[in-house]
Amino acid sequence: MKTYQLGVMYGDGIGEEVVKATLDVLKAANQMNDLVKLDLEVLPMGLKAIDEFGHPLPEQTKEKLSKKDGWIMGPHDSAAYPDRFNEERNPSGELRHHFDLFANIRPAKSVKGIKSLVNDADLVIYRENTEGYYPDRNMYSGVGEWMVTPDVALSTGVFTRPAIERIARAAFEAAMTRHKQVTIVHKANVIRLGTGLFKEVCLEVAKEYPEVKVNDFHVDAMAAHLVKRISDFDIIVTENMFGDILSDLTGELVGGLGLSPAINANHTQAMAQAVHGSAPDIVGQDIANPVGVMLSTVMLLDWLGKKHQDNHLIDLAKKMEDAILSALEKGKTTPDLGGTESTESFAKVVINLLN
Ligand code: NAD
Repeated sequence: MKTYQLGVMYGDGIGEEVVKATLDVLKAANQMNDLVKLDLEVLPMGLKAIDEFGHPLPEQTKEKLSKKDGWIMGPHDSAAYPDRFNEERNPSGELRHHFDLFANIRPAKSVKGIKSLVNDADLVIYRENTEGYYPDRNMYSGVGEWMVTPDVALSTGVFTRPAIERIARAAFEAAMTRHKQVTIVHKANVIRLGTGLFKEVCLEVAKEYPEVKVNDFHVDAMAAHLVKRISDFDIIVTENMFGDILSDLTGELVGGLGLSPAINANHTQAMAQAVHGSAPDIVGQDIANPVGVMLSTVMLLDWLGKKHQDNHLIDLAKKMEDAILSALEKGKTTPDLGGTESTESFAKVVINLLN
């Protein structure tokens, strides 16, 4: 039996609360399933790491993560870090860059029992995570934006064939296991070279998957289509910034930020990381919604299970997911979703439902 080595970073703000709730559920689920071995190691990240090691993402954390199968990352409150870290990538950007976690995979699925702006959504956004318009990660060295004078700023977008090919292939592979439909999102009518290349390379990769139906939209039109007819979409593949924006939109459409899960993956490792931030306005009140981190952890286990062809791990992920969704369906929710559960009591409800 393989032992899966997982890192855990609580991070800042509500991270302490939502990651703890997630670990409580994960450990309880795992205790009921002795066919999977998980070895969890807590690693420093965030404000406490600055106090203890002088950096929000100490080298020793990266070194240890390099030997893990995957990890769970709580949110960081990088806006509260001392000014000397302003010029550096935040911990999440640094981990995505350092480990070349090129695919940011963000599902948006309607959940029974949750009030939402749309029904019947079930899509997954494959967001390219390493280049595009994000200047903190789109250069080999240095950053991709400059101030020429105090009144002139230049920001660069970077689009490369290998990076587009690998995110497109990940999206088409995923489509083959779902409804065999991929939507490419770009802005090739205006950003002709950069997002034009994105569109063209995705269409080239599409030829390897003749069973998959393909369409494409400009990003502005896509925002409107998502609001109007979200249930028509299955897999969406897009560049970094468009994916960041569209996934906040789809997350909100199906119920809110606190629910939105994600993983960031390369070919060998993955990082579970909810879409939301450290929520400084509600920290320490035991009201933060842990579902985003819980479902991100489910995605991580499922991803590892499929990668290692380990049905026991896939079953563990499914068991956790079923219990979380069943709690929500019964109306057991934290205040952001209109309920009265605390972070801790929600975890207890989920644990009781694991059986
Ligand atoms: P935020 O996501 O932390 O909060 C936005 C709003 O959503 C707040 O009102 C908050 O209370 C609410 N919210 C967020 N998560 C919630 C949850 N799980 N349960 C209930 N309510 C929740 O965004 P922000 O306020 O713009 O950023 C705060 C800090 O988080 C900043 O330092 C920012 O840089 C950082 N941030 C980190 C990540 C990350 O770690 N991946 C992502 C976004 C923002």
